[in-house]
Amino acid sequence: MTAGRFAPSPSADLHIGNLRTAVLAWLFARSTGRRFLIRVDDLDDRTSVDIGRRQLADLEAIGLTWDAVEWQSEQPDRYSSALEELASRGLLYECYCSRKDIAQAPRAPHAPQGAYPGTCRDLTDAERAARRAEIGRAPALRLRTDAIVHTIGDLLHGDYTGIVDDFVVRRGDGVPAYNLAVVVDDSAQGIDQVVRGDDLLPSSPRQAYLARMLGFPEPTYAHVALVLNEDGARLAKRDGAVTLAEVGAQRALAQISASLGWRARDVEGMLAEFDPAGLPRRPWIYTPEASGSDDG
Ligand code: GLU
Repeated sequence: MTAGRFAPSPSADLHIGNLRTAVLAWLFARSTGRRFLIRVDDLDDRTSVDIGRRQLADLEAIGLTWDAVEWQSEQPDRYSSALEELASRGLLYECYCSRKDIAQAPRAPHAPQGAYPGTCRDLTDAERAARRAEIGRAPALRLRTDAIVHTIGDLLHGDYTGIVDDFVVRRGDGVPAYNLAVVVDDSAQGIDQVVRGDDLLPSSPRQAYLARMLGFPEPTYAHVALVLNEDGARLAKRDGAVTLAEVGAQRALAQISASLGWRARDVEGMLAEFDPAGLPRRPWIYTPEASGSDDG
């Protein structure tokens, strides 16, 4: 059974940009006969059940329908068994580095920017014991990768090649890292179509690589352009009327539809107009006052 999904992090109410991404994920799934699932990415302790529930209510208010909802916090065994499997294959190692250590580490001349420099990769047992005692907190776990880059297929970006370094799969606080959880969940839920904001495009080669290491099929990706404010920065709460409570469902739907070049005023109407090839490739610049005025 094939499925698409929307996976919000319940750390803040959804804003119009998140709602637009959710609508697009729903359109991609429904227009291809897939199931549509909601996964609440609530592993991080900056997230809350109340916000998660409000996000679901907002998605419902704009007319989205789904086949199942899952909360990551209810799936701990999934992540621990994937970590055990990787550990049993010798693919994990402890990392004692702080952000500062990583920023200051010497790197090989051709190492890609933003890649982990490998500081803790080949330590001896004695060195590990010493580092563990020295940092006085639990270490993170990193994946031992052989790739430097990996190429994914994206319906909007074509082939996209990005860095695969030894990325963190379990954080120092014991929480499964986003890059691990997303891969394990997508596979467990039968998700073969990942539609999300293009801020996550650079993470997808790491995720697809990990999926392959775990023997999971790589999903099809569609990374959609984000919504920006008038200054060209990512839309945020401080930009004014951006949440559904502030904008209202009808106006939000009209704005989302107009931003995609459509006339429809509800998601079923958008489904009738949906053509992935015609989606705008540029970010939508959202101006709360102006974009509300043509709503009649
Ligand atoms: N929960 C992640 C976020 O809101 C998205 C996860 C995903 O779509 O892969 O940024």
